[in-house]
Amino acid sequence: LRVNFSVIQKKKDRVEGLIAVIHDITEQELIDEERREFVANVSHELRTPLTTMRSYLEALAEGAWKDEQIAPQFLNVTQTETERMIRLVNDLLQLSKLDSKDYRFNRDWINFTAFFNRIIDRFEMTKEQHITFNRLLPDESLYVEIDTDKITQVLDNIISNALKYSPEGGEITFRVEIQDKYLVISVRDQGVGIPKDSVDKIFDRFYRVDKARSRKLGGTGLGLAIAKEMINAHDGDIWAKSTDGMGTTIFFTLPYEEDQEDDWT
Ligand code: ADP
Repeated sequence: LRVNFSVIQKKKDRVEGLIAVIHDITEQELIDEERREFVANVSHELRTPLTTMRSYLEALAEGAWKDEQIAPQFLNVTQTETERMIRLVNDLLQLSKLDSKDYRFNRDWINFTAFFNRIIDRFEMTKEQHITFNRLLPDESLYVEIDTDKITQVLDNIISNALKYSPEGGEITFRVEIQDKYLVISVRDQGVGIPKDSVDKIFDRFYRVDKARSRKLGGTGLGLAIAKEMINAHDGDIWAKSTDGMGTTIFFTLPYEEDQEDDWT
C-alpha cells in the first residue's frame, strides 16, 4: 500500500482538511515501476556521454581538427566517453546475467586470508597516491567456498572506491573477523564519507552521492549494486557505515564454518 497525504489549506495558518489517497500497489506494478525507472536511468546514463561526444565531434568537423593543440584534446574526450559507455554496457550485461535465475557460480574452496592478501598486494603495488594500507587479517587459514572471480570483483570495487574517495596521506584498513558462522570482511577509509540518509542507498543501481564527481572519476554507479548481487548470491550481506566527512567502512559477510578442518582429514 502507498498512502499520499495532501493538506487543504486556504489561508496561511489554517489547515481545513486532509486528503489521504490510498493506492493498492501490487507486486507486479512495483516490478513494472522499477523496470521503467531502470530503463529511464540507463537511457539517461547513455545519453550523457553520447551528447558530449556529439558536441566534440561537431566541433572537430567544423574545423577544430585542423588545430594541432585542440584536436588531440577533443579526440581524447570522445575516447574517454566511449570507454565509459563500454564499462556501462558491460556492467549492465553483468547485472542482467546476475538477475537471471539460472546464473551459475564456479565455487572453489580457498583460504580467504591468502586470497585477500594477494588482492591487497596488487593494489599496494599499483596505487598512485600516498595512502597507507593497514592489514588486520588473522594469521590462520580461513577456508570458504566462493567464486573467486566474483569476490575479486567485489573487493576490486570496494578497494578502488576507498582509494578514489581517500585524501592524500590517508589510511585504508583491511580487516577480517569471524562472527558466528560468518567471516566479516571490511575496508575502512578516511575519505569524504557519505551523508547519513545516503548510506543505505549506495547499493542501489545508479545511486551516487555526487553524480558529477563519480562521472569525473569514471564511475558508472553500478559497482556496488553488482557487488551486492554477488554477495547475496554467496548467502552473505553487504552494508556500509559512514560519518560524513570522516570516512567510510564497507562490510560484507561470507558463510564460514569454524571447525571445518575436521571434515578434511
Ligand atoms: P561509482 O561508479 O559511482 O563509484 P559505486 O556503485 O561503486 O558507483 O558507488 C556508488 C556511490 O557510493 C558512489 O558514487 C559514491 O557516492 C558512494 N561511495 C562508494 N564508496 C565510497 C567511499 N569509500 N567513500 C565515499 N563514498 C563512497
